[in-house]
This record gives sequence, C-alpha cells and structure tokens, in this order.
Amino acid sequence: MKADIVVVGGGIVGLTTAVRLLERGASVLVVTDEALPARTSSVAAAVWYPTGVRPGRATTVRAADTYAELSRQAADGVPGVTLGPCRTYTPARAAELPWWAKAVPGLRPLRTDEATGTWTHGWAFDAPTVDMPVYLDWLVTRFLAAGGLLHHRRVNHLSQAAVWAPLVVNAAGLGAGSLCGDPTMTPVRGQLVVVANPGLRTSLRVQDHPEGYTYVHPRRTDVVLGGTFDADRWDLFPDPATAAAILARCTALEPRLAGAPVLAHPVGLRPHRPSGVRLERDPHLLPGTPVIHNYGHGGSGVTLSWGCADETARLAAT
Ligand SMILES: Cc1cc2nc3c(=O)[nH]c(=O)nc-3n(C[C@H](O)[C@H](O)[C@H](O)COP(=O)(O)OP(=O)(O)OC[C@H]3O[C@@H](n4cnc5c(N)ncnc54)[C@H](O)[C@@H]3O)c2cc1C
Repeated sequence: MKADIVVVGGGIVGLTTAVRLLERGASVLVVTDEALPARTSSVAAAVWYPTGVRPGRATTVRAADTYAELSRQAADGVPGVTLGPCRTYTPARAAELPWWAKAVPGLRPLRTDEATGTWTHGWAFDAPTVDMPVYLDWLVTRFLAAGGLLHHRRVNHLSQAAVWAPLVVNAAGLGAGSLCGDPTMTPVRGQLVVVANPGLRTSLRVQDHPEGYTYVHPRRTDVVLGGTFDADRWDLFPDPATAAAILARCTALEPRLAGAPVLAHPVGLRPHRPSGVRLERDPHLLPGTPVIHNYGHGGSGVTLSWGCADETARLAAT
C-alpha cells in the first residue's frame, strides 16, 4: 500500500484532514487502530463551541473556518449535521464579547425572555451540532468514495507509517504524544448522560456553573447532557453520583427534561495539550520524511476540525 500522504488517526481530526488532502489531489492512506474512535470522537457532545482549548487568534480562525464548513454541510443536508439555536449563560452581564466572538456570525446578548431560572445573562447564536457516530460514518464513506485508502492497524512509531508515504500526518489524538515524544498530552475525562428528547431544539450551556460544567444539547431524537472536565483521569466507567448531579443541574436549566428516559452514560477522554493544538510541519522527527502534527484539540476537536484540516492541507503543499 503506497500513497502520497499517510494520516495516522481516524478520528474527527484525521478524517477531516484526509478528506481535505484528497480534495487537493493527493492520494491518501489513513491508518488507525480502531474502526470507531470509541474513546473520544464518537463520544463527543459535538456542538460547535471553543472550550477546553487555548484561546487566541489561530484558534478563532480555525473555529471560524469550521463554523462556515459545518454550516454549509447542515444546509446541504449532510447526515448528522444541524445548525440550531444555542444560548450560553454567564454569571453576570459580560463586559466584553467572548474571545471567540469573531468566529460566529450573529452573536447577540440574550433577551430577557431567554432567561432560565437564575440565569439571566449571556449570548445567543446559531451553533452547528454534529451527531458523531452518524457523521464519522459519512466521513469514512466520503473518503473511500473519493479514492482514499483505510487500513486498521496500530502504529508504534511514526517511522512505521513512513513506509507507506513520503509525508506523514500525526492526527492520533491522545495517542499522538507517544508517537512523537510529546509528554505533555494528557486525558481530560468527560462524563455525559443521554436522555430521550422531550421536544427540545435549543442548546443551553453554563460554562461557569458553580456546581460544574453544564450543558443541554438536543439532537434529533435524544439530548446530550453534560458534563465533566476531569483532568488526568483515564477511567471510562460512568460514576452514578456524577450522572445524578448532571441530570439535576441540566433539569434546573431546562425543566422540560424532568422524567426524560435515560438512554446512555457515555464517558470519553479529551486529548488535552496544555500549550494548545500542535499544528506544524516537523522536518526533524523522521530522517528524510516530513511529519505534519495535527493533535491536541482538547474539548474542541469538532469545533476546530475543518479549520485545522485546511491548514494541514496548506502545510502539505509547501
Ligand atoms: C465527553 C466529551 C464531549 C466532547 N464534546 C465536544 C464538543 O461538544 N465540541 C467539540 O468540538 N469537541 C468536543 N469534544 C472533544 C472532541 O471529541 C475531541 O477534541 C476530538 O474528538 C479529538 O479528535 P481526534 O481525531 O484528535 O482524536 P480521536 O478521536 O481520539 O482519534 C484518534 C484516532 O487515532 C487512533 N490512534 C491513536 N494512536 C494510534 C496509533 N498508535 N496507531 C494507530 N491509531 C492510533 C485512535 O485509536 C483514534 O481512533 C468532546 C470530548 C469528550 C470526551
């Protein structure tokens, strides 16, 4: 199996990158060790919202590009992608716009009729939301239909990937650090509760809730309730007390959730890198084979996916 570029990692970051590289005319092989990225990408609540990631201009540009792409896909009817109303509540009237405001068209302060409980201030905008298992399936199908190659296999070092192509993309999420000797990669565990949708359409979130990170993200038939940000925790077992606390916080925010049947207790690991996403061309790691790193997206891998894929494709062309 030979290609122009090999992408290691078949989560949201690897697949969007692989699709963009193919669209730019390269032959692309994705090598990934599991058919479904079960610990991270398939678990994501997957609402466009920059969180758990280093703020800054580069992040805002990547988030803006992804917002535009996912909005186009929602309009085109891409499976699993919708654009819907979103409100983010703040403890007090904010003196400044959120740092990522330039990425979002139509961001406005909440109206008084959009308050809920004691939460009266914040911002409203339309946010792309993605049903990840459906969307990842669609990405794989799109990739294969465009001539991409997919190989399920573990890679222990990026030099193993270099036998398949003269350019390697490191998009292995939490696994990326050990592949390139970056010891700063750690998991940030997230626990969610999924309930049947009692007819909700609007995403609600409170980033600075005093009892813990809180969000309500309706999908077509269910609602994803969050959540936790548990630094440096690897376990994937849902904690019943945490689930009860998530349900209580979310029901206080959106009372129509009361009594909604619980469908699942997903737990996943965000690929956290304290200094932010690593997206750069690395000519030194492998002798004679350049590597482009695209990993460390923390809690925003969906939110930054297409922007980072575009940037990787530009780096591949240099
Ligand atoms: C509970 C939760 C909620 C979230 N909610 C949101 C949200 O609302 N919005 C948002 O933007 N983001 C959200 N995220 C974050 C988002 O899920 C991640 O940032 C994103 O999925 C990371 O994608 P990735 O492709 O980098 O990693 P992954 O999905 O982990 O994909 C990497 C792939 O590479 C493979 N791999 C790793 N090492 C190797 C190796 N050595 N050889 C071969 N293959 C390898 C892995 O098996 C995996 O399949 C959430 C995450 C969690 C856990």
